[in-house]
Amino acid sequence: MIRFKVNHKEVEVAGGAYLLPALQALGYDIPHLCYYEGLEHYTSCMLCLVKDARTGALIPSCSLRVEPEMDIITDDEEIFEARKTGLELLLSDHVGDCEAPCTKACPAHMNIPLMNRLLQNGKADEALEVVMKDIALPGVLGRICSAPCEKICRRKDIDEPVSICLLKRYAADSGLYEPSLPEQVEPALQGRKVAIIGSGPAGLAAAYHTQLRGVQCTIFDKAPVAGGQLQAIDEAILPKEVLDREISFIEKTGVRFRMGEAIDKDAFLRLKESYNAVVIATGPLEEPLREWGLETYKQGIQANRSTYETNLPGVFAIGAVLKPMRMAVKSVGHGKEASYCLLQYLKDEEVKGEPGIFNSRFGRILPEEVQEFLKESNDHHRVEPIYGLSEGLKLEEVLEEAARCIHCDCRKIDTCKLRIYADAYRADQKRFGGAERKAVKKVIENGAALYEPEKCVKCGICVRLTEKHRETYGMAFIGRGFDIEIGTPFHETLSTGLDDIAEEVVRACPTGALALRSPDPPDRRL
Ligand code: SF4
Ligand code: SF4
Ligand code: SF4
Repeated sequence: MIRFKVNHKEVEVAGGAYLLPALQALGYDIPHLCYYEGLEHYTSCMLCLVKDARTGALIPSCSLRVEPEMDIITDDEEIFEARKTGLELLLSDHVGDCEAPCTKACPAHMNIPLMNRLLQNGKADEALEVVMKDIALPGVLGRICSAPCEKICRRKDIDEPVSICLLKRYAADSGLYEPSLPEQVEPALQGRKVAIIGSGPAGLAAAYHTQLRGVQCTIFDKAPVAGGQLQAIDEAILPKEVLDREISFIEKTGVRFRMGEAIDKDAFLRLKESYNAVVIATGPLEEPLREWGLETYKQGIQANRSTYETNLPGVFAIGAVLKPMRMAVKSVGHGKEASYCLLQYLKDEEVKGEPGIFNSRFGRILPEEVQEFLKESNDHHRVEPIYGLSEGLKLEEVLEEAARCIHCDCRKIDTCKLRIYADAYRADQKRFGGAERKAVKKVIENGAALYEPEKCVKCGICVRLTEKHRETYGMAFIGRGFDIEIGTPFHETLSTGLDDIAEEVVRACPTGALALRSPDPPDRRL
């Protein structure tokens, strides 16, 4: 055993240990990309820097063995800045979108490419589950949404945007999905109840997302039936049966509806007393609301635009009562975001909304990239529904249209260490970025794995792992100096290079450079 110091405290580890795994074993969270337990190590990413307190020097903890006299500082401002600079250098020539532009443009932040992949594989039930994670009224919005996602869809750089809205509508009309209510409600939320005034899209969405966390929601509305302004939409555009179906779906989650109950100032004060929080989702501001003690301005109620909190504690305002709003999807997005804030409020946490996370992005497709993106797609033009818009897309059309998506998102969005560290260290992707970016390349070859070299940080883990498993070809460093790349040697295919251990190599790759194309790809053979 060796005794040494970490942050001036004496500790003991096995003799001969490298510093990084030793610190990890002691419970210190040291960032790293190129280190992989069980593989011979070559230092490259320099994220695991720590400080030798005796000399003040920054040292890569992955490449030094523990010595008896060491006193290691694991974190301070200088270390933070050095790691952040290392990340920014890696990100300066990193080309990829973490989240697809369509997802970023959707006010409800729906995972559109994942929905498309599932629909492309004929999985309407799973697609609906993905949709309903973010959108409480998918069939309604599938008919009336002005689709800001399609306006930004990158496929329009090639021909026309993907018909996202009609695909979502198909999932809503054809998929089967039962949301699961929590078996055990979080202790801080047990017994909590929320009153929602207004049964339009914002109120319905807030109730849906909050109820799914086990908080009892009750919607009050003076109208005899729920839906607010949605009830006024022409039957030819939004059939009542679709609206009723989605409202009764929300009711089945446990949301209570008290229709025909107008809320005046006294009733509002009673709700404030008897519920843990109140959400005002009444639609455009009406004069009597100004007397409820809420701060208002010309267009609506004054509320924090990030948290939806009004000047009254525990009272939130969402949708068109904040300012006139024509897009129903914005109201639905408000409902979802406000639910996040409501839960924070109910749990006595700081109310700050859903945290944003680092998002790499690269903008428009370059002409030379079109063929690369089409490798994951078909080259057909946008499918127009053969029986007209009112009928929507039929299965064959859905399969074809969903397959037009060029999958701008990253498949490792939740596990990519580069993204996680970039977020934690508040890295600025543009700090060292040049004017020109490298062109996106996609290596696919019909298998389940996908390799995108412009997301590779050249950590060499895939190379060492395929060597360790004695893959005939494996992955290799190709070229020299600044032009060095990772690839399969002798122009072999990716399938040949990875052969039996593709899934293990994909898991070990710390970024989205190597990924599985779909959670359930059509052909899992590599
Ligand atoms: S590899 Fe990581 S940082 Fe890059 S696009 Fe994918 S998730 Fe984002
Ligand atoms: S091509 Fe697909 S992933 Fe890309 S923006 Fe359009 S719908 Fe989204
Ligand atoms: S592709 Fe290989 S070298 Fe590149 S980041 Fe992934 S594991 Fe590292």
